[in-house]
Amino acid sequence: MLIDVHAHLTDPAFSDLPEVIRRAKAAGVAAVVTSITDPADLPKAKSIIEQYGGYVFLTVGLDPALLSEEKLSEFRSALKASPIVGVGEVGLDHFYVRDAPLMEIQERHFRECIRDAISMDKPLVIHSRSAGRKALEVLYSEGAERVLMHAFDGKVGDALAAAKKGYFFSIPTSVVHSDQKQKLARLLPIESLMLETDSPVLSPVRGERNEPANLIHSARKVAEIKRIPLEKVVEATSANALSFYRITL
Ligand SMILES: [Zn+2]
Repeated sequence: MLIDVHAHLTDPAFSDLPEVIRRAKAAGVAAVVTSITDPADLPKAKSIIEQYGGYVFLTVGLDPALLSEEKLSEFRSALKASPIVGVGEVGLDHFYVRDAPLMEIQERHFRECIRDAISMDKPLVIHSRSAGRKALEVLYSEGAERVLMHAFDGKVGDALAAAKKGYFFSIPTSVVHSDQKQKLARLLPIESLMLETDSPVLSPVRGERNEPANLIHSARKVAEIKRIPLEKVVEATSANALSFYRITL
C-alpha cells in the first residue's frame, strides 16, 4: 500500500484522469494527496475529491511566484471553503523570484500561510526551490511543527537538522536519476521519509508526463539505496503519510 503524498491532479496534463486513477490503483497506490497552488483551481479540485472520495485528498496552497495580495486573500478563503488535509504547497522560490523586494513579499506571504496552517491545526507541505535553508529558518521561527518538505533541493545537512526536529521529507520519483535526491534518501532515516510523484512533473523518465502509478519507482530506489526490503519502505512511508495528514483509509 503506497501513498502519493504530493501530486497535482488538477493539472491540464491529466485530461485522462479516470485512466490515471485506474492505473494508480492497479499499481498499489492506496491514496493520492493532490495539491493546488492557485485558488482558481479550487472548483476543479473539489470535483475531483468528490468523485474520488476516500482516495484523493486535498491540500490547498499558494504558488510562491503568485505574489499579489488578492491571491493571498483568495488562498485564505479557499482554505476555509475546502475539506483539506493540509496547507500546501506554500513556501519560497528563489529560482523564479530573485529580486530582493519581491523576495521580501514572498517571505511575508509564506509567514502568513504558516500562521494560517498552525491556527487551523493543519500540516504544511513546503516548496523551497533554491531556498531550502531559508525556508527551514522561516518555519523554525514561526514554530511550525507538522512539516513536509517536498522535493527538497537544499543541503542534506540542513535536511538532517530538520529531520531531528520531526520534519518529514518526501522523495520524488525523479530520485531514479537525481544524485541530490539519492543522497537525501541515503542519509535521512526512513522514519523521516514519505514518497511523492509531484505529477505531472518529476517523472522517473526525463521528459515524460509523470503520474501516481509511477510511485513504485521511488519506493524501489529508496529500498535499493538504503539496502532494506521494499516492503519496509512502503510500510514506513505510508504510516508516516497517514499519521502526518491524519488520514484513515
Ligand atoms: Zn508540487
